[in-house]
Amino acid sequence: MTTDIQQISDTMAAHGYRWQPPPSLVPARPGLFAHHAAPSWIDPLLVPLTRARGGVQTVRWSIAARHWHAVPAARPPSAQRVLSALWAGPRPLHVPVGDVARALASAGVDSSDLAFVVSSSSSEGDSLRRALGRLGVDARRIGSGEETVATVRRAVLAGGPHLSIEFPVGPPCSITCGPGCRCGRYRVLAHLRFNPASQTRSLMEIAVLESELLGAVHGTREPYGVHRFATLVKSVRDALPAKGTQAARAQRVRLIADRLFTATLLIGSGFEPGPRGAAYVVRRLLRNVGTELALAGGSLTCLDGLVQVADRSVRTTLGFAPLTDALLAVVRDERERFAHVLARAPILLRSTVTRRQGPTERAHALLRLRNEQGVPLGIAVAWCRENDFALSLRRVALLQETSQRGEGAWGLPGPLTDTRPRPDSDTHSTTPHAISAAGL
Ligand SMILES: [Zn+2]
Repeated sequence: MTTDIQQISDTMAAHGYRWQPPPSLVPARPGLFAHHAAPSWIDPLLVPLTRARGGVQTVRWSIAARHWHAVPAARPPSAQRVLSALWAGPRPLHVPVGDVARALASAGVDSSDLAFVVSSSSSEGDSLRRALGRLGVDARRIGSGEETVATVRRAVLAGGPHLSIEFPVGPPCSITCGPGCRCGRYRVLAHLRFNPASQTRSLMEIAVLESELLGAVHGTREPYGVHRFATLVKSVRDALPAKGTQAARAQRVRLIADRLFTATLLIGSGFEPGPRGAAYVVRRLLRNVGTELALAGGSLTCLDGLVQVADRSVRTTLGFAPLTDALLAVVRDERERFAHVLARAPILLRSTVTRRQGPTERAHALLRLRNEQGVPLGIAVAWCRENDFALSLRRVALLQETSQRGEGAWGLPGPLTDTRPRPDSDTHSTTPHAISAAGL
């Protein structure tokens, strides 16, 4: 039992899906990392199939670094591997569904527990149900549901039926909990999408998500509760002083582990922290870790070591060469740069906050301070609390939300798509884009 997406890939290859090397992490648009829900995700797979029939597959990283303030339990990590496969040409529906079910079983998923959710009320939905019946799937394991958010429409597949292959983890939410219930119990391991039968060219897309696969095999809804992240999670826990409730601490550990791994992956892939585009995402990830360490009363100097742990315990075990000394030095420089921001923060806060009268005015001032000086909101709010400055947290949240609204779905933040320099600790620009400079 390998519980690895590589096993799925091998099985798909045995079923006639030709291997294709993954496209680069960053597509043409600056600042955007590829995500498996992005409409253009399957484009690289379409190319070899424009004339030929048959299937291709690849495994690549899907990056969605968007939940800056919290990584809720049961939400997939910001970076995960996704197997994508595409089949062109007519094929009875039960064949690809059977292929994927067998591939999941080969990776250690108990196939007798698999659930199938059909999202289409059309006759094509019915044909999918018939195909499942042909595979011997009991009707109780078939549900119907809305398409989950992870399956935005691809132009070439629009209008066709969709099938998700799911696996229950944990207890049912109620007596009616079953396939199609969105309580969080059913982990979506794979998406299959077919284009409408009326079109002459027949296409089918498969996406298998590794984090969900690992969760199903390990029986956990916690994305960092799997063996792969055990060393990293332990190191993060050790770096944090015991402070706050257990739930708050778990949340912080999850967020730090998520940021660390994603940043390490990106740095190792050639994206050094910087003021714009993809580099800015990396900077933001590292500063998020720094902020959380500082808020918990931990030492910012832990950051370098934690990046190394993420590299050695997770990244290199996935087949990457270890981060070079030069890259580790980049991380150290970035940490020092952020330490400088944090060191200046109390003086900046005092001079800014004392000049403002009401709690609402102060909220605006903190936002401006983040835009212009890179002082993280979390640090600013904590400072106001400690120094008894009343602050409208509601207003802070509201402003924060407004500033994030420009961010597209799937961690493709709008502001990051433009190529103008982002302010960091060294600059004094006041562009609204800078609002997202350091996270809350
Ligand atoms: Zn349920």
